[in-house]
Amino acid sequence: MEKIIEEYQQKFARFLGAERAFVFWKGRVALYALLRALDVGQDDEVILPGYTCVMNVNPIKYVGARPVYVDIEPDTFNMNVNLLEEKITNKTKVIIAQHTYGYPCEMDTIMKIAQSSGICVIEDCCLALGSKYKGRMVGTFGRAGYFSFQWNKPYTTGLGGIVITSDRELAGRIESLATNEMCCPSNREVFMLRMQLIIYRLFIYPGTTALAQSLFRYLTKKGAVIGSSSTSEFEPVKADDFFKAMSTVQARSGIRQLGKIEKNIAHRRKIMQLYDELLVDRDWKPSKDSRKLAEPVMVRYPVRIAEKEEALAQAAKAGIELGSWFECPLHPIETPLASYDYELGMCPEAEKAAREAVNLPLHPRTSEKTAVKTVEFITGFTYS
Ligand SMILES: *Cc1c(COP(=O)(O)O)cnc(C)c1O
Repeated sequence: MEKIIEEYQQKFARFLGAERAFVFWKGRVALYALLRALDVGQDDEVILPGYTCVMNVNPIKYVGARPVYVDIEPDTFNMNVNLLEEKITNKTKVIIAQHTYGYPCEMDTIMKIAQSSGICVIEDCCLALGSKYKGRMVGTFGRAGYFSFQWNKPYTTGLGGIVITSDRELAGRIESLATNEMCCPSNREVFMLRMQLIIYRLFIYPGTTALAQSLFRYLTKKGAVIGSSSTSEFEPVKADDFFKAMSTVQARSGIRQLGKIEKNIAHRRKIMQLYDELLVDRDWKPSKDSRKLAEPVMVRYPVRIAEKEEALAQAAKAGIELGSWFECPLHPIETPLASYDYELGMCPEAEKAAREAVNLPLHPRTSEKTAVKTVEFITGFTYS
């Protein structure tokens, strides 16, 4: 194995306080490796929140298992643990605890329910790097945790994914799967990735001018910027080269950013607190108010408004960086829900959140001035 890959894996594992880390081309590939290593297959059921992205559901379908969706709890946007037990059957093999927007799930309850039924918990930390629950890093509660480094995650290496675990047997299985089945990215893919990283540095966080913002939106729509999903990934059919390794370009970039992680986290915390205060001042309740057990490091700051469509349209014109996840229970909206075993009405709170939630930036280039401007903009709409 390349030295730089090994170095990244060791540094990442150490930061999280896990024994081992394994890197992959994308976060979804990390989940796939994990499901395979856990021997999840035909007829097994995997429980996850009905407020996620479809790329998170594909690996479940790829291994032949069935996704089972739990509705969310409206304050935290995380799995409603009161609805978890009724979803468990004798086919349930895995529960995916997704820490949505970076806010930690109720891990005590999830672990207790899982342990009493002999089910394995894995944690989706793609939006939650550095978040803690009862003083401990998320990703270290379940048998394993996985992370993503796609362009709108806590930090980006263009694309990228990592599994962490302290379970030696599981680590051994992931290692042998990687040795036997994983393919390498092609030269063209690595070249594209390098270009994307350059474009990312130029264009990301285009809060500065309306022109940059709309150009960015246009390019993203056209798939020219960091197109992280191909259209074939909106149906549950696995491509031959899906199970792909991380390139050294990504690992090198990851090591650099991991070196700046404390600063990144401190900044996210500071801006989050500023949003809390500004929204309280305007009688807009912060969307999360039970911050006692949880010390979140949020990736974006969710707010609910009545006029979501209108706000997104106006934000684009005004150069306000307003995000919109998830736009349907299995983001993005084009997804044919039926082929992913989802029926409208299954998770009413998730569907409501999809209609109402927008999110405010917290990334390292969000200045306090931007935060104030963003709150002024968003509070011009109606709190929902
Ligand atoms: C981004 C994301 C993933 C998938 O990560 P990729 O690197 O894009 O494959 C999975 N789960 C959640 C919650 C995500 O936000």
